[in-house]
Amino acid sequence: MTNYKTQAINLKSYNLGEADKIIVMYSRDHGIIRCVAKGVKKPASKLGGRMLMLASNKLLIAKGKKLDVVCQAELIDSFKELRQNVAKLTYAIYCAELVNTFGLENDTNSSKIYEIFFDSLKNISLSLNTGEALWATIRFKLVFMNLLGYAVELNHCVKCNELIQKDGFTFSAEAGGIVCRNCSSSIREAIEIDHDILKVFKDAANFDFPENIVDQTSLDYCFRVLKEYVALRSHKKLKTPELIECLC
Ligand SMILES: [Zn+2]
Repeated sequence: MTNYKTQAINLKSYNLGEADKIIVMYSRDHGIIRCVAKGVKKPASKLGGRMLMLASNKLLIAKGKKLDVVCQAELIDSFKELRQNVAKLTYAIYCAELVNTFGLENDTNSSKIYEIFFDSLKNISLSLNTGEALWATIRFKLVFMNLLGYAVELNHCVKCNELIQKDGFTFSAEAGGIVCRNCSSSIREAIEIDHDILKVFKDAANFDFPENIVDQTSLDYCFRVLKEYVALRSHKKLKTPELIECLC
């Protein structure tokens, strides 16, 4: 059995016997990993708080035949503000659900995915209002999709490649981005989108926080457009988007 070190964020857990749990994590160096946290359900366990959902840790892990085992965990950030606000927690769980759905074992992009996931949890936890939390979630979705090879096209028509400048364009979740006025008639389920919404998408792809205040209606709209985009690329039904719409 060999040991390895990594940093990881907890995504999900399953009970294993009376005292142990299997923790599904997204790690900086290996993508999705599943590890046994021994004795974690005992009140005196040192691992306890470190194995909470969404906590990030520096880990020492022993490689096992079937499942790896957490030997040591040193907390990096528990993102405690997430646990004090139901809206923040819901956005963060949504990001975790996306990582759990699309994340791969031995992902070649794992360090970049870990970084945007960590930064997004931090930004959601530090957000001062629902708009900022929603911005961080939209930013996460755009960057994460890009890293998975599902980049949302925001500059050129996905059908004819024309640079989008004129009004009258739409968005196609199925085709993967914006569609020019000429090509829109050939799209089955075109979603209306204007320059203001497009600007929110472009800015969210680039900046941690908005430069100016963005109205909540535009942010909700962007979230819903991306929800369609993500749903079409996922083989599983995601649970949290509906919950987020209840919060808006
Ligand atoms: Zn076109």
